[in-house]
Amino acid sequence: MKDDCIFCKIAAGEIPAAKVYEDDEVLAFEDANPMMPVHTLIIPKEHYDNIADNIPDATMARLMQAVGKVADVKGVRESGFRVVINTNDDACQTVHHVHAHVLGGGAMNDGDPSPR
Ligand code: 5GP
Ligand code: ZN
Repeated sequence: MKDDCIFCKIAAGEIPAAKVYEDDEVLAFEDANPMMPVHTLIIPKEHYDNIADNIPDATMARLMQAVGKVADVKGVRESGFRVVINTNDDACQTVHHVHAHVLGGGAMNDGDPSPR
């Protein structure tokens, strides 16, 4: 647990979140400021700053396996969804505890990464 990390606090149950899926390694919960009708975040319960932060293979596998579970719970497996992992400043990562966004529930732009 990293001090002052909001997602560590959510993983520890110290800050409430609307849970979508949980196992011993990962937690999925609804984004507080959804950008799509379906907008769920998946985090490892252990703290890693970002996707390139030497995450152990087993934890990485759980993180990615949780995508399909979230897609099923949210009903977007067939319609489609997007998985986004923002990493550091150029990609606008605001919470520095690695998280995968699962976005769906409606048509999205055609993969434009939108340089700014
Ligand atoms: P990032 O910009 O780092 O990729 O995404 C961070 C996401 O976390 C944002 O979409 C934001 O809405 C969400 N978020 C930030 N703080 C909280 C919180 O306390 N609870 C929940 N459920 N989501 C949060
Ligand atoms: Zn953390």
